[in-house]
Amino acid sequence: MRNIEINNTLCKGCYICVEICPVNVFEKEGDVSETGFVPVLVKHPDKCTRCMLCELQCPDMAITVK
Ligand code: SF4
Ligand code: SF4
Repeated sequence: MRNIEINNTLCKGCYICVEICPVNVFEKEGDVSETGFVPVLVKHPDKCTRCMLCELQCPDMAITVK
């Protein structure tokens, strides 16, 4: 399984990653973070193909795919 880390301090809840992931790894149902945003949730890490689109496109550099 891929390890997809979201930095909840950096994530602004823009959900670009939700739209861009070809295999729907992410969902818009995280909890409110200490910064007042709702970070994205990594719901289906098993589906990840490691295409790296999310890590490259996140405007806040909040995603790390390993
Ligand atoms: S693209 Fe980045 S900032 Fe936007 S919801 Fe995803 S992880 Fe958060
Ligand atoms: S690396 Fe690609 S497949 Fe994996 S979560 Fe990111 S966008 Fe989705």
